[in-house]
Amino acid sequence: MKNSTEQPEPACRVIIVGAGLAGSLLACYLGREGYEVEVHERRADPRKQGFIGGRSINLAVSCRAITALDQVGLAETILENAIPMRGRMMHDRDGRLIFQPYSKNPDEAIKSISRGGLNLALIDAADALANVTFHFDHKCEDIDLDLPAATFALADSGELVIRECDLIIGADGAFSTVRGRMLKLDRFSCSQSYLSHGYKELTIPPTGEGDFAMEPNALHIWPRGGFMMIALPNRDKTFTCTCFWPFEGPTGFEAISSEQDVTPFFKRHFPDAVPLMPTLVEDFMSNPLGSLATVRCEPWHYQDKVVLIGDAAHAVVPFYGQGINAGFEDCRILDACLRQHPSDRAGALRQFTAQRKINTDAIADLALANFIEMRDKVGSPAFLMKKKLEKTLHAFFPKWFMPLYNMISFSDIPYAEARAKAEAQWKTIKLVAGIGAILILIVIVFAFIQLT
Ligand code: FAD
Repeated sequence: MKNSTEQPEPACRVIIVGAGLAGSLLACYLGREGYEVEVHERRADPRKQGFIGGRSINLAVSCRAITALDQVGLAETILENAIPMRGRMMHDRDGRLIFQPYSKNPDEAIKSISRGGLNLALIDAADALANVTFHFDHKCEDIDLDLPAATFALADSGELVIRECDLIIGADGAFSTVRGRMLKLDRFSCSQSYLSHGYKELTIPPTGEGDFAMEPNALHIWPRGGFMMIALPNRDKTFTCTCFWPFEGPTGFEAISSEQDVTPFFKRHFPDAVPLMPTLVEDFMSNPLGSLATVRCEPWHYQDKVVLIGDAAHAVVPFYGQGINAGFEDCRILDACLRQHPSDRAGALRQFTAQRKINTDAIADLALANFIEMRDKVGSPAFLMKKKLEKTLHAFFPKWFMPLYNMISFSDIPYAEARAKAEAQWKTIKLVAGIGAILILIVIVFAFIQLT
């Protein structure tokens, strides 16, 4: 058995439902620990078919994802193909640009990476382990939580196959079948809420000379108050743009009902992008419109038999760029919990839910709040001033003050702790500013009394 360490006690057969990003990384973790792992995926093998369907062709990954990849020795190879984005490049309505670095340290950058390339690298790494097998074209139809066992429908024949095991891991995304089955359990809570905004992806190709059409080491944002477009660079010198607009209203997707509406809309709201998008009209009319949901549920496990990870447990809206960072962090922490409790899997899963749920709830809230920040505030003078103040405080008091964005993106501080720390930091700043204002007032009053 390649790369395996001590066999878990008792030897454990695991079924992972979903060979997406989280499922494939977890297969690497558990395969290395010596579990017998089967990964079942409803789609065809991307190594044969290329990536079909699926969302956004690139993703921003940061510290948490990198730490999780690093623990299974994959960070270096995977990040070879990433493009660092060192800050936000804001595009105003007149095409003026403002660059806002994420950190005073230029090495602290979020990284744009191909979603399909990342998934392939993880599938290859897990498949190289002798005790991990992949079964593509296997759609999970049902779960028997008590056995446990999973029923899969085979894509070619429609035949149903039942696979028993010791532990089922639901890594089957935001609309998880495994979670759907857990809904029938007593005291299983679950909520799913949609944004009134959806998303559509477009492309900015390379220039005629074969270069990037915009600064590549930045995440580009066109904030327009209530709606926005962003763009992330790709290795082939294209950018993937994503429009996050309301479904309805004059600045929503419904405002564009025919080809004739596309260019005027973009000229009005994103004028500097139009000359960079020669296939704008075709892309806009043919690319799908996606919706965005937050999913929260609890508990993520059932006895010692079933557990959810990634979007299946906690889908968040993408505005903090943390969805897969949190999913990969799940893999690292689930593996740690299982290793801490080698002969008490129920205890390990209980600890996993307890440790993760509070943190993924925090990032779900922060991601929703960041949407408002990105689309409405990012270009405003007050926001830019706040960012400057944060940078200055971080530069002068690095041990005491760390901006929330940096704690989330450039550290492994648990999300809930980062949020609490940021709130405490701002409370102190407001207190100090209040005391300062009172002192100044006292000095003015005193000077006035002296003079009169
Ligand atoms: P998924 O990626 O959804 O994978 C689930 C897998 O399970 C899929 O392969 C699916 O085919 C399979 N599956 C589903 N049902 C079944 C079934 N019944 N049987 C068998 N297999 C099944 N996150 C970031 O960290 N950074 C970003 O920049 C970022 N940008 C995003 C932009 C957009 C527009 C969106 C929508 C999301 C973004 N995210 C980002 C979030 C990120 O995409 C998700 O958090 C991540 O893909 C979740 O991974 P997962 O493996 O849990 O689920």
